[in-house]
Amino acid sequence: MGAELTDSDFARLRHCMVNDQLRARHLADERVLAAMEKVPRHLFVPQAQRRSAYEDAPLSIGFGQTISQPYMVARMTELARLTPTDRVLEIGTGSGYQAAVLAELAQEVWTVERHAELAARAADLLRELGYDNVHVITGDGSVGYPPAAPYDAIVVTAAAPCVPESLREQLAVNGRMVIPVTEGYSEDLRLIERLAAPEPGADTETCFREVSILACTFVPLIGQEGYPK
Ligand code: SAM
Repeated sequence: MGAELTDSDFARLRHCMVNDQLRARHLADERVLAAMEKVPRHLFVPQAQRRSAYEDAPLSIGFGQTISQPYMVARMTELARLTPTDRVLEIGTGSGYQAAVLAELAQEVWTVERHAELAARAADLLRELGYDNVHVITGDGSVGYPPAAPYDAIVVTAAAPCVPESLREQLAVNGRMVIPVTEGYSEDLRLIERLAAPEPGADTETCFREVSILACTFVPLIGQEGYPK
């Protein structure tokens, strides 16, 4: 057990995280990198894990849940292509860290968490850190959050058995959804874009363009349009 780390130690570790884990893996959106450089990830993990907060790994946050690996947070945020006027829905608040990163880049963020204690803890911390553009909701995010729909971007941080229809419906035209979907024994991170009209020449009438991005691992999305409890 060494000496307590100071804020400047954490800032240095955060800077290394951005360079060694994000830039080195070709994440290049400077707005996303600046947000990752700014948000104090160590405050979103349990006290005992603070020293590990900037390592290249997910960490346990209690209730069998995790704060995602920094690379995954940054990659999902980059895929969401946020602008400062965007309204964003996140499903799976967990620690509140991803919500803080989204809040750095968008106008307003609604984030839904099914565990009331995690939601309350995240809401307190986000308020303390001054993120008054984040609304934390306790509930089943597999059905989205209709009161504030439509959203310019939806970021789902738990793995769904298939893309929930409610989330498609709550995505604005030209909106982007980033969601891990179970495929076999792992998950496939997908980017889904809502188009104004079906693509010319496409063999279906769908207004959604769906691209597979990378294999990943996430805890399950549990709820009405997710997995059963
Ligand atoms: N984004 C989080 C962060 O930055 O710490 C990490 C999220 S963790 C990988 C996934 C979260 O999704 C868990 O906290 C879990 O309780 C939550 N979850 C699972 N199913 C859910 C649902 N239907 N609605 C809302 N939250 C859900």
